[in-house]
Amino acid sequence: MTKIHRCEAVVIGAGLAGLNAAVHLEDAGVDVRVVEAQDRVGGRVRSMRELGGNLEAGGTYIGAAYGRMIAAAARHDVRLIDVTPSLKFFREQDLALDGAIIRQSEWPAHPANPFPDPYRALMPWTFSRMLTARENPLKEPQNWLDPEQAVHDVPMYEWMRGLGLNDQTIRLGYGMNVSYGEDAHDISALQLLFRAAFSRAQAVSSEPAADRSVGKSLRSRSSTTSSTGARGFTAADGVQRIPEAMAESLDRPVHFGRAVRRIEDDGRMVTVGCADGTEFRAAYAVCALPFTVLRGIAFDPPLAGSQREAVASLPSQSMTQLYFAHNSEFWEADEVAPSLYTDTATGMFSAIRNGSDPGEITGFSAWVMGRNAARLDALPPEAAGARVIAEIEAVRPAARGQLEFIGRQSWGADPFARGAWAYFRPGQITRFAAAMGAPHGRVRFCGEHLAQTNRGMEGAMESGESAAMGIIASRQSREAEP
Ligand SMILES: Cc1cc2nc3c(=O)[nH]c(=O)nc-3n(C[C@H](O)[C@H](O)[C@H](O)COP(=O)(O)OP(=O)(O)OC[C@H]3O[C@@H](n4cnc5c(N)ncnc54)[C@H](O)[C@@H]3O)c2cc1C
Repeated sequence: MTKIHRCEAVVIGAGLAGLNAAVHLEDAGVDVRVVEAQDRVGGRVRSMRELGGNLEAGGTYIGAAYGRMIAAAARHDVRLIDVTPSLKFFREQDLALDGAIIRQSEWPAHPANPFPDPYRALMPWTFSRMLTARENPLKEPQNWLDPEQAVHDVPMYEWMRGLGLNDQTIRLGYGMNVSYGEDAHDISALQLLFRAAFSRAQAVSSEPAADRSVGKSLRSRSSTTSSTGARGFTAADGVQRIPEAMAESLDRPVHFGRAVRRIEDDGRMVTVGCADGTEFRAAYAVCALPFTVLRGIAFDPPLAGSQREAVASLPSQSMTQLYFAHNSEFWEADEVAPSLYTDTATGMFSAIRNGSDPGEITGFSAWVMGRNAARLDALPPEAAGARVIAEIEAVRPAARGQLEFIGRQSWGADPFARGAWAYFRPGQITRFAAAMGAPHGRVRFCGEHLAQTNRGMEGAMESGESAAMGIIASRQSREAEP
């Protein structure tokens, strides 16, 4: 028999976006239910507790100007720790190119360096970030949606060619371990400009924000936080504690294990149907799912126009993370940096430092992107781990026998994420970015892909807040109707 729950608003998806919508709705006196397909909250915020040692698989770094995230941690009593002391160690990374290791100090004069002056000192992993920061036409991050910026909604390849860069430079300066798309042809330059403008805005506002919003709560909560100058934070007991504490604060527990399959709106009420037959009937629904997941959900009435196109075609980055323990400090034997940025299928092989000493290396992770991630996902976990170890050992003999595979998280293969983060192919921003989050009858949408000013976890929070505000405004105007 169908079990029916009635409420005023049903939120689909207990990631940060959905939970922030639920918290705001409840604050406004709305009776809310949250429906989640998995048996945990957080979605792409995932603390890998089963592996021990505070390993994170999803959102980890909370910028000092992430006002919503920091406020949520303070409100729900989640202790943040200042990660500024460990940031300098992230620069300790060397390059593995064509089977050989190139130290950062060797790179500017190295014969394999194709970058023209004045870029020769840039490492491949900073090249496109530096360029999009330096050549950025956006005054504020939110300007990415202004019609006059559509001229930049072109392939990153074209944008870089426009700066006089040749193919070899573009291949190394964008095409290695690509975080957005498969290569420079597959990503809109405008999205990367938005990302750079967001980073710039964060840097500009982090000092006052650290003083203003963090100072009071963190000075009393965190033993390691300096009262000023913090550049970023993470959560002491894993970032997943933030969505967990948000969920715990709600009047009603999250409905776990309910995978939504259909959303029907008869003009008076929304019915949300789950795979197990449970139904939620509400005046409003908030759909906080990635579009890659949403495309498997039946809408009645169906989505239309550019919103339909966006749900059907907005891609999400394939990305797989593998985790390793180490048996010795092998990087001291070869005097190469602990972290390697490689041109192999392993991608970025990075030291993890999440112990109480910011300099201590507590493990390693490989971040494998795009098609390489999909290939590794086709292997059983142990075999994927062994392949990465073999690639690292081949380029770095000192690591032989020193690494042990302990776990894997694939965001592309995760049926509830289907990718790590959304990205826009060239032309997609102009075609549908501004319209793709429009309300569909009584259904509102949110999620990191719909953030207009912020990115990452702060973007997810922003979008959840906007969806809730839309419902609260609609409710107020209905109440005001004679
Ligand atoms: C590897 C990685 C590293 C990152 N690092 C950072 C970082 O350091 N800093 C930062 O700011 N951001 C980072 N991010 C980005 C950040 O984690 C995300 O932007 C944010 O968590 C997305 O939140 P969301 O609520 O939009 O989506 P999600 O977290 O994906 O939430 C969607 C929810 O919907 C649920 N769901 C899916 N299908 C259904 C269904 N059919 N029915 C019901 N529920 C369903 C899911 O289980 C999930 O709980 C990172 C992301 C990844 C993957």
